[in-house]
Amino acid sequence: MTTRAGRTDEDRRRPVGYFDLLRDLAEPGCAVCHGEDRTAWRYLDGLLWEGVTDPGVREATRASHGFCRHHALMAVAVAQRESGQLGMSILFEDLLRHVESDLGASGTRAGRRRARIEPGLQPHAACRACVSARATGRSYLALLAVIDRYPRVASALLDGRPHVCLPHLRSGLGQVASEAERAALRGLYLRDSETLRAELLEFIRKRDYRFAHEGTTREEATAWTRAVRMLVGDPMREYRDKPMRAVSVFVGGACGTLARWWVGLALAPSSPAGFPTATFVVNITGALGLGFASVLLTERLPPTRYLRSLVGIGFFGAYTTFSTMAVEGVRLLDLGRTRTALTYWILTLVLGQMAGVYGMWLGRMKFTVKERA
Ligand SMILES: [Zn+2]
Ligand SMILES: [Zn+2]
Repeated sequence: MTTRAGRTDEDRRRPVGYFDLLRDLAEPGCAVCHGEDRTAWRYLDGLLWEGVTDPGVREATRASHGFCRHHALMAVAVAQRESGQLGMSILFEDLLRHVESDLGASGTRAGRRRARIEPGLQPHAACRACVSARATGRSYLALLAVIDRYPRVASALLDGRPHVCLPHLRSGLGQVASEAERAALRGLYLRDSETLRAELLEFIRKRDYRFAHEGTTREEATAWTRAVRMLVGDPMREYRDKPMRAVSVFVGGACGTLARWWVGLALAPSSPAGFPTATFVVNITGALGLGFASVLLTERLPPTRYLRSLVGIGFFGAYTTFSTMAVEGVRLLDLGRTRTALTYWILTLVLGQMAGVYGMWLGRMKFTVKERA
């Protein structure tokens, strides 16, 4: 039913996971696998940046001895993609230490019960990434079981590709309440399976020399890989949380540009042939500030997700300017002020480098003093 504003009932009654499901249905492969992986990826990304210093999160992660195999490999991919090596090192040092102490404690009991598995080697809880991923999987399957209420979801299922793998069909059948919902899920799986099998049969038929001249389509040639994934689930993909990082670069950049503009207003040269003080000051203070901030962000503060892109790339990237320095130098040369141009370039490069080193030294000094206090 369409309302005056052109929005359908479906648009107004959007259950949890609705838009994510639409997005995942547009990707090839099992939408539930993709949804669960995206949720787990977000969980691990958050854990590596904000969670590693939280005692509650660390406690929960210890109880499961880190993650299951699938999510441990995902954590490695997250850390490599998002430079979360520090978060992983903090997290896994903690995990190794606790397994060591559990193992030490169980060693005294093990003499008495030699045949048993050492209790310290058994995780006490399920992988936290699995737990968060499953919540997404359940909301997707609940939606897929009632697609007759959501025409946009239903039409996304008509592209002739598989949308739910067998393991997720099984969890869906165990999860939904009514026989009608189970029938909807079975119907969805069967339709995709029959389409896929028809492609496999075509591929097999065209391998016969009598029909080889018909030529196979790309879909037919790759159907066997989809068939494998349909029965076991889709492999891990990589998900990135780019928008928020882009926003932090944007905000930092806007602040940096404003700061440069203010310095420009305060120190505007009296004549075009004068020494470009404003740009000089901006580049030297920028190098000093970036040196200081880089030490704080990479060596002293706990891992943060957006601060580096906000301060390092955004603010100081916009605040300092190499291009203006180059143009101003050339303009001075054009005006015959060769000595001023060369002094300007050499001073900027030499003092800028020194300011960067001094900024880093300040950052290290300041925090060593604090730690001792
Ligand atoms: Zn799946
Ligand atoms: Zn897991």
